[in-house]
Amino acid sequence: MPRTRFDALVESRKRNYQNVEETGKRSELFGKNVFNEEKMLQFLTREAFDKVKSAIFQGSKIDRKIADQVAEGMKAWALSMGATHYTHWFQPLTGSTAEKHDAFFDILPDGRAMEKFEGGQLVQQEPDASSFPSGGIRNTFEARGYTAWDPTSPAFIYKTTLCIPTIFVAYTGEALDNKAPLLRALHAVDQAATAVTQFFDKNVRKVYATLGWEQEYFLVDKALAHSRLDILMTGRTLVGNAAAKGQQLDDHYFGVIPNRALSFMSDLEKECTKLGIPVKTRHNEVAPNQFELAPVFEEANLSVDHNLLLMDVMEVIADKHNFSILFHEKPFAGVNGSGKHNNWSLATDTGVNLLSPGTTPMKNLQFLTFFINTIKAVDTYEELLRSSIASASNDHRLGANEAPPSIISIFIGEQLSNVLDELEGVSKGKLSPQEKTELKLNVVGKIPEILLDNTDRNRTSPFAFTGNKFEIRGVGAKTNCAKPMTILNTIVAKQLTEFKKEVDVLVDKKNLKKDEAVFNVLREYIKTSKRIRFDGDGYGMEWQEEARRRKLSNNKNTPEAVQVLTSKECIALFKEMSVMSEVELSAHQEVELETYIFHVQIEGRVLGEMVYNHIIPAAICYQNILLENIKGLKDVYGAAHKKVAESQLNILEQIGEHIVEIKKLTDDMTAARRRANGLSTINKKAQAYCNTIKPYFESIREQSDKLEKLISDDLWPFTKYRELLFAK
Ligand code: ADP
Ligand code: MG
Repeated sequence: MPRTRFDALVESRKRNYQNVEETGKRSELFGKNVFNEEKMLQFLTREAFDKVKSAIFQGSKIDRKIADQVAEGMKAWALSMGATHYTHWFQPLTGSTAEKHDAFFDILPDGRAMEKFEGGQLVQQEPDASSFPSGGIRNTFEARGYTAWDPTSPAFIYKTTLCIPTIFVAYTGEALDNKAPLLRALHAVDQAATAVTQFFDKNVRKVYATLGWEQEYFLVDKALAHSRLDILMTGRTLVGNAAAKGQQLDDHYFGVIPNRALSFMSDLEKECTKLGIPVKTRHNEVAPNQFELAPVFEEANLSVDHNLLLMDVMEVIADKHNFSILFHEKPFAGVNGSGKHNNWSLATDTGVNLLSPGTTPMKNLQFLTFFINTIKAVDTYEELLRSSIASASNDHRLGANEAPPSIISIFIGEQLSNVLDELEGVSKGKLSPQEKTELKLNVVGKIPEILLDNTDRNRTSPFAFTGNKFEIRGVGAKTNCAKPMTILNTIVAKQLTEFKKEVDVLVDKKNLKKDEAVFNVLREYIKTSKRIRFDGDGYGMEWQEEARRRKLSNNKNTPEAVQVLTSKECIALFKEMSVMSEVELSAHQEVELETYIFHVQIEGRVLGEMVYNHIIPAAICYQNILLENIKGLKDVYGAAHKKVAESQLNILEQIGEHIVEIKKLTDDMTAARRRANGLSTINKKAQAYCNTIKPYFESIREQSDKLEKLISDDLWPFTKYRELLFAK
C-alpha cells in the first residue's frame, strides 16, 4: 500500500485557510523594512546622504570614511528595527540568491560585548566562494571571490537580518554573478541612450531601463507536493496521467481566487510591501492552481532584485500556508506552464518614457527613434536574446504551443506597421519643406491617436510592443530576469551607439539637418530589419518555415541556444559595450551548460528510482491480485474460467507488456547516461543529455501513464494529477 499518497490526501483535506488581517493602508506599510531615502535622511549625516545619492545617480565611488558613516547609520536603523545579523545578499550563477549571515554582535579586545558594523563590512565581504559555479574562472583551490555593495539597490531587513544587495566578483575582477553584468549593461544603455536623447532634449542627464515582470506560479498543497519525489527533487512531475478535467473549461482564468490561495496572497503582499516590492496585481492564471503576481514597474536593477526577493519570500509564506510553490516552467504535462513576461522600456531622469509617444512631432520622432532602434537591435542580435531565456526547464515551455516559439520575432501591430511603411518612403538626403510638413503632420504627428486605439494584441509573439513598452514573453518563471535584461540592454546600447554615429556623420559631412538625418537613418533601419517583424500566428508550423526563409535562428534547446555566447560577434559586442569579457562569456556559457546537464541528470536519476522502486512494484502488486483472482476463478470454474476471467487475463497481459517495456527503456536510459558521463567535453555531454537521454523521459512517461490507467487506484504510489491540481 502506498501510504505516502493516502496520508498526504488525508492531511490535505484537513486544511483550512488562515485568516490574514489587513492592518491599515498598504501605502503606510510600503518600504517599512527598507533603508530608503526617508531612512537615510534620518540616519545619515548630510555628507553621507549626498555621497550615496551621487553614487546612485552618477556611479561615483564612496570612500572609506563615508562608508563608515553609512554603515553606522545603517546599523543604528537596523538595530532600531530589531535586526541581529547582517548579510551580503547576492546572485551567484546558480540562478537564485545567496547569503551568509554575520551577527552584529562582537567582542572588543577588553572583553566587552557590543554591536559592531563598519564601512569595511558594508562595502566588501569574502564568502567562501569555492562552492559557487564559476565556469572555471576561479581556481577552486584559491576560492577567492568577494561581494561588493551595490548602493543603487537599497538594503532591507528580512526577518531579523539586514540584507545588503551586492555584486559577486572574482579577485581578478570577473563577474561570478548575474548582477555585475546587469549593472554594466544598464550603464552602457544609459550612456548610449542619454547621448541619443540630446538630439531631442538637452535637459536629459540620465536614462534608466525600466522593468515590470509578471510572475506566474503554481500552488500545490504541501503534503501532496511532498508526497511526490519528482516534485520534491526536480520541481516538476515526471510522470502522471492527465486528469479528466484540465483547463479546457477556462473556469480558472481570472476566476474567483480560492480562499486558501487568497490568504496566502494577502500575507505575501503585506510582507512584500514592507520590503518595498510594489506588488499590485494578483489573479488566477489559465491552469488550475496557477496564479500570477505583477508589481508596478521599477528601475531594472531594483526590479530584478525585487523579483528574486519575491521568489524567496514566496517560498517562505507558501510554507506557512501549507503550500509548495512551483516556479518550474512546466510542472504538469498537458496544462499551461509558467512564464515571467518582462515588460521593458527606457525612461529619462526628466520623467519621460522614451517608448511612449508624446504630444509634439519632436517627441514623437524621439519615440520612433527608440522604437525603431530597439527593433533593429533585436533583429541584429535575435539569437543572443534567445540565449538569455534558455534553461533546461524553460525548454519544456518555449515552442510548446502555449508560450512563444524559440524563434524571436517582434509584433508591433497594424497601425505602427503602417507608420513604418510610410517612413520607409522618406526621400534620401535632404527633405523638401513639403515632405517635412507632411511627415510631421500626417505620419509622426498621428502616432498618439493611433496608439490610443491600438488594442491590437498578439499573444503568440515573443517580443511585442504593447503601447508604451516592449514585452519579452519567452522568459521562464524560474529565470533570473537579470539575464534577459543584461542582453536586451546591451544590444540596445550598441544599436543606439551606432545610430548616434550615423546621424552625426550625416549632419557633419552631408550637411543634413538633425531631423533629416534621423529620418534618413531610421528609414534604412526599417528596411534592413524587416525580417524580425511578424504579426501572424507564432505558434503555427508555417511560421517555422517562414522564419527559416528569413534566416532567423530557431534554437530549440539550451545546448544549442547558448552556443552563440562565445561567437565572434558576441564577444566583440560585449567587449565594446564593456559588459562582459571573453573569459566571462565562456564562463557563463559553461555554467549554463553545466547547469543544464545537472538538471537533466537529476531528472533521469529520479525517474529511474520511480520506475524501479515504485512503478514496477505497484504493477507487480496488481498483477498478483489479478493472478490470485484468476486462480480462484479457475478453482471454481475449471476450464471454463477463461471466459469469466477474460478481462483479468487481458489486463494482466497488458501490465506484463508495460512492465517489460518500461524496464527496458529505463535500463537503456541509465546506460545512455553512463555513456554521456564519459564524454570528453561539456558541449558533447550537454548534447547527449539533450538529444539522447531526454527523449527517454517521454517514452518512459508514456508507459507509466498507461500503467496508471490500468492499475487499481489504491495501489498507485504517486499522488495523481486530479489530486495535485484540484485539491483546494
Ligand atoms: P498587460 O500587459 O497585462 O496589459 P499592463 O499594461 O498593465 O498589463 O502592464 C503589465 C506590466 O507591465 C506591469 O508589471 C507593469 O508594471 C509593466 N509596465 C508598465 N509600464 C511599464 C514601463 N514603462 N516599463 C516597464 N514595465 C512597465
Ligand atoms: Mg502582460
